[in-house]
Amino acid sequence: MKNIIIANWKCNPENLEKAGELLAKIKDKISDLSWSGKIDVVICPPFPYIACLNMEGTDIKLGAQDCFWEDKGAYTGEVSPLMLEDIGCKYVIIGHSERRKYQKETDQMINSKVKASLLRGLKTVLCIEGSSQIKDDLKDVSKESMGNLILAFEPIFAIGTGKPCSVDLALKENTEIRKIIGDSLPILYGGSVNSSNAKDYIEKANYNGLLIGGASLNPEEFFKIIASLEG
Ligand code: PEP
Repeated sequence: MKNIIIANWKCNPENLEKAGELLAKIKDKISDLSWSGKIDVVICPPFPYIACLNMEGTDIKLGAQDCFWEDKGAYTGEVSPLMLEDIGCKYVIIGHSERRKYQKETDQMINSKVKASLLRGLKTVLCIEGSSQIKDDLKDVSKESMGNLILAFEPIFAIGTGKPCSVDLALKENTEIRKIIGDSLPILYGGSVNSSNAKDYIEKANYNGLLIGGASLNPEEFFKIIASLEG
């Protein structure tokens, strides 16, 4: 299975010019690597920037940080999987703990979003704090429709805190998640990943990639994380 590195820019940076500069620096840095084909790199900017970023000359893919469960209609403020697909998004993050907390997203809402984005063929990154959420978040999602599903284990205590999860606990959770979803889907780790701990989550805790918040806003550090998985 290929490793997947996903940058979650969250509500950053504060304007389009800075977003363009950040992307240009990341493109420039990772073009030095001979990783092409070995790792999938995905950037998830805020919605307004997605269609405006210049993705020419790079294998980096675009993703969104959320989407709605309907394709169109009277749903003020929402962005649909159909719209994301139309502007070239390949990935979407669903159920991030910050959305569960601040937007009060429930497992039922997340379940509807997962189904809608899978139906559109988007690679759907379902964030969970632990294996107990899988049952509700994937309720009535058939095995056949799960081909584009990616799980991301993101322990709340590690998100944006600089206090990463221990490799032992990450491995334990990975094993629990695997017992439920089987061997075929990728599982990512997210939570205070940096260039010193990234490799351990992949090599010692058996993850298939990383979901990276804070460190993805620093092109040098983001590059170092990717480079650390090369060796
Ligand atoms: C995240 O936002 O998904 C995340 C893992 O953030 P951070 O890397 O900053 O902990």
